[in-house]
This record gives sequence, structure tokens and C-alpha cells, in this order.
Amino acid sequence: MISVDKSLLLYIESAKRLDLLDPLSHFRDRFHLPKTDSGEPFIYFCGNSLGLQPNTASQFINEELDAWKQYGVDGHFHAKRPWMPYHEFLTQYSAEIVGALEKEVVVMNSLSVNLHLLMTSFYRPEGKKTKIIIENNAFPSDRYAVQSQLKLHGNHPNNDLIILQPNDGAIITTDGILDCFEHHGDEIAMVLIGGVNYYSGQAFDMEAITTKAHTYNCVVGFDLAHGAGNLKLDLHDWGVDFAAWCGYKYLNGGPGAPSGVFIHERHLGKTDIPRFEGWWGHDKSTRFAMPDEFIPMETAEAWQLSNPPIMAMAPLLASLEIFHEAGMENLVAKSIQLTDYLEKLILSQLTDKIEIITPPSAINRGCQLSLRMINPIDNIMDKLNDVGIIADWREPDVIRIAPVPLYNTFVDCFQFVVLLKNILNA
Ligand SMILES: *Cc1c(COP(=O)(O)O)cnc(C)c1O
Repeated sequence: MISVDKSLLLYIESAKRLDLLDPLSHFRDRFHLPKTDSGEPFIYFCGNSLGLQPNTASQFINEELDAWKQYGVDGHFHAKRPWMPYHEFLTQYSAEIVGALEKEVVVMNSLSVNLHLLMTSFYRPEGKKTKIIIENNAFPSDRYAVQSQLKLHGNHPNNDLIILQPNDGAIITTDGILDCFEHHGDEIAMVLIGGVNYYSGQAFDMEAITTKAHTYNCVVGFDLAHGAGNLKLDLHDWGVDFAAWCGYKYLNGGPGAPSGVFIHERHLGKTDIPRFEGWWGHDKSTRFAMPDEFIPMETAEAWQLSNPPIMAMAPLLASLEIFHEAGMENLVAKSIQLTDYLEKLILSQLTDKIEIITPPSAINRGCQLSLRMINPIDNIMDKLNDVGIIADWREPDVIRIAPVPLYNTFVDCFQFVVLLKNILNA
């Protein structure tokens, strides 16, 4: 039996009430929740790492397996969703999620691959302007990708890398970032930072950064692995040059799901942007005439190399349909409520045990909270798992939790705090 102290009883009532009032609560039934040995659903707070499987995912995959069985190569035209334009079925939904025009978006490859394809086009060092800005604690793949691009251009992987340092706890303030342009603007060629940092959960002011960077003629890209499907994004209006994200975190496309790419309209249909090219980037009306000369699509699809992986795209499409139905604005409204509730509960119950390193205000974060354990205890993740919680651990002392508005509840948040408190007080 777990003990619930009196100060928490008020919270359980409010959690239940908030779930009853939640207009999106029914979306939880559209996903498979992992189950404990006793058959109870886990409290799943790992949607920032791998989103849950939509109930419709297997149907979407099976339809393509059946079409392949039935039609062979003719599935390219005769499948219910023809394979030839299959990636196009994901475009509108992806554009809605990141606030883009349809022509600015394409789903293809995986994220790190896309970062390289985009940097091939948009990291163009010239003269003194050679440097790339990333954030402290950037995801390792981003750092490796950026440093290898520096080397590819004959620049120095450390001296030409500017790493934005935290200047307020674990937080990198917008002023600190804008200052960096004032000091180094004439040396900076490109910015590539996470829209939401994977470690701290901090969301950056992408609009302010883009505007400032452009006054210094710097190209701006964002890695939205933790931003897409989590934040309200307006990439087109903010004027961001390029962005990429993965399909398997908040977007629930399944392990290794294809990535999405955004390229601002102003860079489309240009002949002076270098690019790695392949047949799927060729103008689709003449692609199968197999001409010698490459004529690019007028859209972000010009960056496509290969024909799309149908089996991998099918579950992502299943999930994007759910996003479309729920609406990004509604999801963000619930997300703010859910994370604020969880934060309040942690602050009221666990202040002597846990420090939240994620910024305290909704405009500076998505749904993730990163919890630093003041006195780390051994095997905390196993202990959480034993009581029915799936969360994520980052060395040396950080638990990352993400209450996801599509399938998490206020009662999940309540139970998490009760269970964690019991473990920490044991
Ligand atoms: C998850 C994540 C990746 C993963 O890259 P893949 O190419 O999909 O394996 C890269 N960058 C960031 C910021 C991430 O959060």
C-alpha cells in the first residue's frame, strides 16, 4: 500500500476534475499504452523519446503490405494510398504542425541525415564568416554533424564552433543569445540550435533569434526533434531559414520513423543554392522520362534523394492524422495546463529532493520537465519502473519527464509525484 498524505488529497480531487473537463481526454484511447506485469497501464512519461503507437498504425502498415501482395509494382499507382506520391500525404499535416506552407515541407530520411543535407545547402562559410553557433548540451548527433561540416569546409571543429553557455542556472537567456550576435555577428555563418533543448527542456525564442541573426546576415536553422508536436511553431512567419525534426518522438511515428524538413519559401526554386541531388528531387512531371539534366522540384521536395520508405511512413501518417484531428493549438493549450499542474505539485511536495532545471514559464518550455535529484539515489529508474513509471535518466542526476497532451492525464501527473515521493522518502 502506498501512503498518501493529507496535503495530497486536494490534488487528487483536482486531477480527476481536470481530466473530466479535458476536451482531449478521449485521444488517450487512440494509443497503445505499455502495460505492467499486473496489466495496468504504465505512467508513460517518455513521449519525448519515443511516442506511443497509435491504434491505427498496424492498419496503415497492413494496408501497404496487402497492396504490395495484391499489386506488386502496380501498388505505386493502385494502392489505396498510391506509393508514388506517398510522402505527399504527410505534407499538409506536417506543415500544420510546424507552421509552414505546404511547399516548404517534406518528410524524408532520418534527422541526422537531413541536418547534413540542409547544412550542405545552408552552411556557406565565406571570408571571416565561418562560425556556427550551437547551444550548450546540444544533442550529440547535432554536435558531431556540425563539427564534421566545419571540417568538410576546412574550418576548425572547435575554434569555429560557438557554444552558447547557460547564464541563469541551466538556462541560456534570450538576451545572452542576442548578445552573442552583437559580439560575433560578423564571424557567424550559421546558427543551428534545438528549438527545445533535449536535456534541459528549455524552448528558445526562435523568432527573436531569427530576426537578430538575419540582421547580421547569418543563416538560421533549428533542430526541432523536441519541438515538433510539442510547441506551437510558426516557422514560415518567423522567417527561419531551415529546420528538421524526427518522426518518432512527439510525433509517434514509431522507432526510426522518417524525419521532416522545412526550407523557407525564399530559398525555393533558386539555382544558386548548392544541394545534394537525387531522382526524387527532380520535377515529378518529367521524372520518369529519366532525362540527363536535373530539373528540381519548385518545393522543398527538391531536396529529396530517394523514393519514400512506405512501410516506415505508414505509422507516421497514422499519427499525423490524429494530430490534425486534435489540432496543434488545442494540444498546446492542454500541454501548458498539464505541465504547469505537474510543476506545481512537484514544487509543493518535493522541493527538498528535486530541483526543476527546466525554465518555470510556459513560453520557455514545452511539456518536458527535467528534474535534478539533489541527492541522487541508486537505481532510481528501476525503482520508478517497479511502481509503474516509464521516464528517462540522463547522467549524472537528471530525470526527464514529459506529460504528453495526446495521451497523458492529470491523474498520471498526480500518481507520478506520489510514487516518486514515496521512493525518495523510503
Ligand atoms: C533525437 C534527436 C536526434 C536523433 O537523430 P536521428 O538521426 O533521428 O537518430 C538528433 N538531434 C536531436 C536534437 C534529437 O533530440
